[in-house]
Formats: sequence, structure tokens, C-alpha cells
Amino acid sequence: MHEFSFAYNIFKVAEATALKYNAKKITEVILEIGELTLIVPELLQRSFEMATTGSIAQGAKLIITITPGKIKCRDCNKISAVSLTRDAQLTGLQLFECSHCRSNNTEIIEGKKANVKNIKIQE
Ligand SMILES: [Zn+2]
Repeated sequence: MHEFSFAYNIFKVAEATALKYNAKKITEVILEIGELTLIVPELLQRSFEMATTGSIAQGAKLIITITPGKIKCRDCNKISAVSLTRDAQLTGLQLFECSHCRSNNTEIIEGKKANVKNIKIQE
């Protein structure tokens, strides 16, 4: 499951940071996820709970912020926002169409990454 390995990685990052500060407990993990990672927040929440059971992050709150995707057009060089609406998911290809000139010759420049922004710990 995509979300589970992802949740586990988040946990490892948070744990490494917490250990560096000699924390006893992680109480909150703040996460930023690009919209184009296609991660389902509800599944991620559940996976995170599973991944942290019995660890110093057990019961930690996972706060997820979704950052929008952006593409850059190779034809007109303009940047378009990509939003994964229901319709767009059904017609995958149109998703990466330049909203200025309708070209499909685009590249993703934002929205495929996820990172731990911050964690809150108890010492
Ligand atoms: Zn364009």
C-alpha cells in the first residue's frame, strides 16, 4: 500500500528528529503533501496510526496540508495550476494541459513531493 510505506517514512523522519532532541514523545507531525503525489489523506492518517503504534509517536496528531500542483508549459513557458478534481482524475491526460495555450507539452514543477514541515515533541 502506497500510503503505508509513505506513513512509515514520515514516522522515521519524525523519530530521527525527536531522538536528536532527546524527546520522550512526539505529539504532532505537520506534513506538506503535493497534490500530485495522489496520496489519500484519510488512508495516510490510518497508516500513520498503524506505523506509530508502540513507538514514541503513538497518538501523535498528523496534520496534513495539501499543496497544489503546478506545471510549466514547454511551448509558451507559462505556469498553470493543476487541480485534481474528480473530472480531471477521470480524464487523466487533460490534467497536464497548459491552461494558457492548451498544449500537452508540459512538465510538472511542483506537487510531487511530500515533506515533514515540523514536529512537536515532549522532552
Ligand atoms: Zn502553454
